[in-house]
Amino acid sequence: MAATVLDGAALAAKIRAGVREEVAELGEIGLATVLVGDDPASQIYIRLKHQAADEAGIRAADRRLPEDTSEEELLEVVEELNADDSIDGILVQTPLPGHIEEARVMRAIDPMKDVDGLHPFNAGQLFFGQPTMVPATPLGIMELLREHRIPVEGALAVVVGRSLIVGRPVAMLLLHANATVTICHSRTDDLARQTLDADILVVAVGQAGVVSADMVKVGAAVLDVGMNRAEAGLVGDVDPSASAHAAFMTPVPGGVGPMTIAMLLRNAVQAARYRRGVLAFPQVRR
Ligand code: NDP
Repeated sequence: MAATVLDGAALAAKIRAGVREEVAELGEIGLATVLVGDDPASQIYIRLKHQAADEAGIRAADRRLPEDTSEEELLEVVEELNADDSIDGILVQTPLPGHIEEARVMRAIDPMKDVDGLHPFNAGQLFFGQPTMVPATPLGIMELLREHRIPVEGALAVVVGRSLIVGRPVAMLLLHANATVTICHSRTDDLARQTLDADILVVAVGQAGVVSADMVKVGAAVLDVGMNRAEAGLVGDVDPSASAHAAFMTPVPGGVGPMTIAMLLRNAVQAARYRRGVLAFPQVRR
């Protein structure tokens, strides 16, 4: 029997409607995106994020910088946005060109405006189990699990991929929700041995078909984060035939992708709440 489809597009639409109401209550919210260079995939993501922000009533500012922008120049733009009172959230689109150290740029963003949740302070809060700003894709995955009442507590969750933006934070959220978590990566010996045990399988690698149907446990919930361009269009990391084994599975497109955008908007609202003092942001004492 084919898996129940975890319809991210439908859930994202509900969340975005909720965000629109929250924006109406809170007043004007400003989200700035910064794109360095002209990577075609990044341009698409930025366009989708702007469209979604517009629809939700969030004012989105679009900063575009040339590929040869220096790290110092980018840091100046970040500083300018940090100081701009009309901007509640800042998102620097990754990947950045190779000559720019991403970690240095993420450290420069005001943690309260860090809607991608990549500042070490926010990453540390997540590690502590006191999440502040959390990356949007992991939040979207947890929402899909919650919406479909997929039990997380006590489940064996396997996360394939250990990036700062998806793999590690989703592993941490699953751990906080009392799953038993295994994190796999490119050096994992015998990936199938790990994935076959997974009640919840999150795959964030960026290689079409890295997880085949015979690597999925019967009855598993499969969350496919991958977005790979193929002749057939956009495809995930998990072979779609895995849906014959899984009990729940996200489609690609229409699964995790729309959830990421919805949760980014929610993060922008949360940043606005922090900045207006509606929510308390933890103080750093030096
Ligand atoms: P990264 O390239 O940063 O990370 C990929 C991870 O996969 C790394 O940890 C790498 O291991 C691991 N890996 C590579 N090859 C293998 C393998 N053969 N077996 C097991 N693990 C492997 O990618 P991201 O996390 O940023 O993105 C992953 C995918 O998700 C991409 O397709 C991206 O486009 C997509 N994405 C989709 C989003 C959405 O909203 N749907 C949002 C963000 C990303 P190692 O650390 O050892 O190198």
